[in-house]
Amino acid sequence: MWRAQLGPHYDGDPRQGGVGDTTRRCIVEVVCPDCNNVLGRMHDEPGGVGLAVWVPAEGQSPSNVTSKRLGWTLYSLISDPELGDDEASVLNCWRGHGGLWITVGECRASVERYRAKGRKVRLVVGRMPDEPANV
Ligand SMILES: [Zn+2]
Repeated sequence: MWRAQLGPHYDGDPRQGGVGDTTRRCIVEVVCPDCNNVLGRMHDEPGGVGLAVWVPAEGQSPSNVTSKRLGWTLYSLISDPELGDDEASVLNCWRGHGGLWITVGECRASVERYRAKGRKVRLVVGRMPDEPANV
């Protein structure tokens, strides 16, 4: 479901990470179900609603003895009509909670909740299904 991968960067901090900047309004926070860590954010952007999530990189060098963890920002324009509601992706939390799951459909539902409430929404992601149909 992702349209761009940005990075690398270190120690995912949604307040500083990737394509996020202060000029766009954050409308949805994507949250880990285990620790409430913010995994990503959705923003109102000129071209629609963008979703950026911060994921730790796989297979880091064991010789990297610093405490810094390498990661990436994954980005998608969630309002793009070419993106299907059933498109989905695995997410991994920076605090070690893996196998999380986000779908385009629940992102769009969160945007609708935001539009209805007029306040920022928290999207607590679910678990990866046993047999992902469309990754
Ligand atoms: Zn977590």
